[in-house]
Amino acid sequence: MRKRYNLKIHFPAWITSLFPSAIWCMPAKKKTVYLTFDDGPIPDITPKVLAILKKYNIKATFFCVGENVQKHPAIYQQIINQGHAVGNHTFNHIRGFKVKNKNYLNNIEKAGKLIESNLFRPPHGTLKKTQYNSIIKKYKLIMWDVISCDYDPRLTPKQCYNNVIDFVRNGSIITFHDSIKAKNNVLNALPLVIEKLIEEGYLFSKIEFPKSQTVKMRTVPNQLHSMKKSINRLLKGA
Ligand SMILES: [Zn+2]
Repeated sequence: MRKRYNLKIHFPAWITSLFPSAIWCMPAKKKTVYLTFDDGPIPDITPKVLAILKKYNIKATFFCVGENVQKHPAIYQQIINQGHAVGNHTFNHIRGFKVKNKNYLNNIEKAGKLIESNLFRPPHGTLKKTQYNSIIKKYKLIMWDVISCDYDPRLTPKQCYNNVIDFVRNGSIITFHDSIKAKNNVLNALPLVIEKLIEEGYLFSKIEFPKSQTVKMRTVPNQLHSMKKSINRLLKGA
């Protein structure tokens, strides 16, 4: 049930249509959702997230920051050993808009030496169109359909829970963070979200793409064309 509209939690079609190869949600045929966790691995948080997922026998996807993997290799290995998927989230969690293309792509490659994956998620969900064009040659660019906003300390775990439950649908890619900032929200909201989604009959899956496989993406209606054009201009100038 969509109770309200919130750009921060759920992207509108005119944004998703700017990056046509990016994956915002998975095919909606099955009642399946895809939990994702960004910014780890972090001691004291990632292992607790892993314990929650293990309790419910759920596989998820962790978009790891290279320098955190370098600092905490045992926790990274724990993610792998539990059968979860991993993705590249750059080495230093850098924002594409703020750095030159060469530096951005090198930072991804540096992380790629530690994180074996064909999945990439840009930190803060932002990148230049030119960076996007390079990245999709090598990686599946995984965005999200619903974000819990667990990183926002002004929100309570219950509000993060509502952010997910109000917007979830078949095929949703749901984003949480195994980061210090999100600790209280993610650890308290996650079990509530999982229990509610189980009650509603959802299954959970990790995100996986064999290298040769292409995904049939959900069609995004080409609405608000003029707005799309002006955003494109902004991106080009960024
Ligand atoms: Zn991040």
